[in-house]
Amino acid sequence: MVPGLLLALVVPAVTGESVLAQYVRETDVVPTDEDIGEGYKTPQVQRPLPRATWWDAVDAVVLAVSLGLSAWIVMRRRNRHALVALTITCLLYFGFYREGCVCPIGAIQNVSVAIADSTYSIPYVVIFFFFLPLIFALFFGRVFCGGVCPLGAIQDLVLLRPVQVPRRLDKGLGILKYIYLVLAVWWAVRPVADRDFIICRFDPFVGFFRLIGPGDILIFGAALLFLGIVVGRPYCRYLCPYGALLALVSRLSWRGVTITPDKELDCGLCTESCPYGAVDEMRAVRSSCLFCARCFDWCPRERVRQEGEAAGGNRLTEPRESA
Ligand code: SF4
Ligand code: SF4
Repeated sequence: MVPGLLLALVVPAVTGESVLAQYVRETDVVPTDEDIGEGYKTPQVQRPLPRATWWDAVDAVVLAVSLGLSAWIVMRRRNRHALVALTITCLLYFGFYREGCVCPIGAIQNVSVAIADSTYSIPYVVIFFFFLPLIFALFFGRVFCGGVCPLGAIQDLVLLRPVQVPRRLDKGLGILKYIYLVLAVWWAVRPVADRDFIICRFDPFVGFFRLIGPGDILIFGAALLFLGIVVGRPYCRYLCPYGALLALVSRLSWRGVTITPDKELDCGLCTESCPYGAVDEMRAVRSSCLFCARCFDWCPRERVRQEGEAAGGNRLTEPRESA
């Protein structure tokens, strides 16, 4: 034992070579308490706690089904009540049960690092969460924001007395989310020692989901929710970096939300209907429409459709295209 130890110390000193052993740890598999053994208990500061890998598959399936439901409810059923039910379900699952992680917003950073640093190991579920809402956006618009995102849900549910933000101010503040996106990517791709995931660090609502968090961030989140009583979803519209990506992709979407179920009336009744400033010239704007299904109630054509449906008659024809 002792001669072996001496050799290990002397040989590198003489030859000038390092004999450090390569240490390789599987980083795509989170070790459980049982894997580590010897009665190890994961510290409670780690949130959320590591879980079996198959839970990733459950999360992925829940995400895919929820996105499909959100698109179907808004674009085919055109039903706000059903969307609220889905919103609450996703808030409970992705927010309070999964404690806000994994989420596509934070995944921006993981994907950025994976692109910039070939040694970085990114779990498949994170890739899935990052791309699937963007793929849906390419087809239909911001389906994820409508009924699936827990951050959007918690803001949507506190919106009680919406006021219209002046359009110029709304557009100006909307630029902030693109700046935040650039900053988040820049911080994420810095060298390891300087790297920071600022989206997660400054997430205003995750502290509510986990029932614990830094005091200043909790105050920030509470202030946003307080503001959100009158200003619809301030984080989504002005700060969310994933919202910035979704807005860009939604411009190219195949279909989008339509306020009237079929032909235009252009009566102007829907002009003030959107709490998110997403109606422009009586059309839902794809890049800013958050798929909330509120504007449908303002349309007389929609009322005719609903009455016809309730009476068991045919629905109106296919929804028209939006702007
Ligand atoms: S804008 Fe961001 S926070 Fe808001 S619902 Fe969409 S992804 Fe979620
Ligand atoms: S246009 Fe506005 S009210 Fe209508 S679904 Fe989109 S975000 Fe909601």
